[in-house]
This record gives sequence, structure tokens and C-alpha cells, in this order.
Amino acid sequence: MRLLKMDDYRVKLDIIEVGKRLHGRGWISATDGNISVKLDANRIITTPTGVHKGYLTPDDFVIVDMEGNQLEGKAKPSSELAMHLACYKERPDINSVIHAHATYCIVLSVAGIKMAKCLLPEVIFTLGSIPTADYAPPTTEQVALSVIGPIKKHDAIILERHGSLTVGIDLFDAHNKLERMEHVAEITYHSRQLGSATPLTDNQVGELLAIKEQLSGKKLTPSDNCNSCNACGKYGSEALPNLECPSAEIEDSAMVSVIDKVPAELVELITREVVAELESVKR
Ligand SMILES: [Zn+2]
Repeated sequence: MRLLKMDDYRVKLDIIEVGKRLHGRGWISATDGNISVKLDANRIITTPTGVHKGYLTPDDFVIVDMEGNQLEGKAKPSSELAMHLACYKERPDINSVIHAHATYCIVLSVAGIKMAKCLLPEVIFTLGSIPTADYAPPTTEQVALSVIGPIKKHDAIILERHGSLTVGIDLFDAHNKLERMEHVAEITYHSRQLGSATPLTDNQVGELLAIKEQLSGKKLTPSDNCNSCNACGKYGSEALPNLECPSAEIEDSAMVSVIDKVPAELVELITREVVAELESVKR
């Protein structure tokens, strides 16, 4: 287990800074969102519930143990504390958890759009696939249950109709992952507004994965590739095991589906008519 030895007060100042950044970017509104940091093997510092996280002060914080028992602080701990504790239990390698209501992450999940990792090289290099956890009513134990599966293998998750969850080796690592995830969500949104979000080709993805293997020194398995993503929808609603990453069109192009349904004979007939028309114009 890797723990960060940091002064508790320094951690409070860092959380205050990150709270300001989240609010500044519009990723938390009013009393939304929560941030926690693992201080040592049995102490988690967390933001309080019902307080604006853009204007935190050092007196606001709460320290709990790994079971959620309050050790320090006058306020009540975060309403999503169970989700934070679930992350620390599932991932002994992480030391910070951030939950925000990042706008484009929510927009995509409300629209039922999964995030494809094959759109941008940096996502393949860093986050890999970004799953969407099943809907659960905020502040309930169900939120914690909904993230237990995906958090085992992912550092950045969209909570359906609710927001984002990112974890990191430290607070700023978790913050960077949120920034990256929201950035790709925004790009996905705007690309689709323009008509389509064209994924990288198989060859381009293969090349990026080869570079990633080289940089990380780790051999990647098929599950590092497309197995848990399937945002393109090529394989139906569920991701299938051991599939190479497809560079299929994302299924949002009405034109593509209409063309697919036009019989070949009709295409040929129309082509002949157009050619004949062009020939007559030339004459
Ligand atoms: Zn929330």
C-alpha cells in the first residue's frame, strides 16, 4: 500500500484550492460535490455536507476512519462518504477521490451517450475507457454499490445523471483525471453537434497502444483496449470479451443508417440517371 505522508493542514489547503478550481470551472454548483484524501492507513479527510465547496475554510473539514466513524471535525461528513470509502476499499493504490457534477459528463449520460476512448489519443494513453456507472439516487448507499464494479479497473467514471468520479494517487492526480474526462466529454458533445464523432482507425489505435506499452513498460491485454468500452455500440449494448478495439462509426449518423438500407439496385438506377443527366448537360 502506498501512502502519502503529508501534513494534515497542507492537505486542507490543497482541498480548498481544488474546491475553488471545481467551482471556477462550473463543475460544482451550490453545495454539490465532495472531495476526500487519505491521510494515513485509517484516516480519511473529507469535505462536509451542505457546504459550498468553492468557499471552504480549514475549519470545515471532517476526518473519519475507514468505516466512516467520525474522528475529528464539528460538521457532518460528505453525503457521499460511502462512495468515497468504497473507492478506498477497492483501490488500496489510491489516496484521493473527487466527485463533481461536471456539466458535459452529465449531459452525455442524460442523452444516453457513452464516452468513446477511441476519439482522442490522450485518452488512450491515460484514462483508457471511461465507463458510466448505473443510475443511483444521490446520497444513498446505492451510489457506493454502483461504483464498486467500475472503480476496480478505472480511475475516471461517469455517474449516470449525476456527475463524475475520479480517483488518483494524490488530490491533484484525481483533479487532473476529472479535467481530462470533462474535456473529452465536451469534445464528444461538440463533435456530435457537428454531425458525428469519428473514432481513430484500428491502425491508429494499435499504434497508440504500442507507444503506450513502450512508455509504460507493461504488456497490454485486450481488456486494456476495447473490452470494457464499446461506446461505438458496434457490439450491441454490452461489451464483449477479448475484442480488439473497433473503429466503427458511432451510431449517431442518420445518413449512414439510411444509406445502409437503400437497395443496391436503387443506388445503381439513381447513379445511371445522374450520369445521363450530366451527359445531356455536356451536350
Ligand atoms: Zn453529487
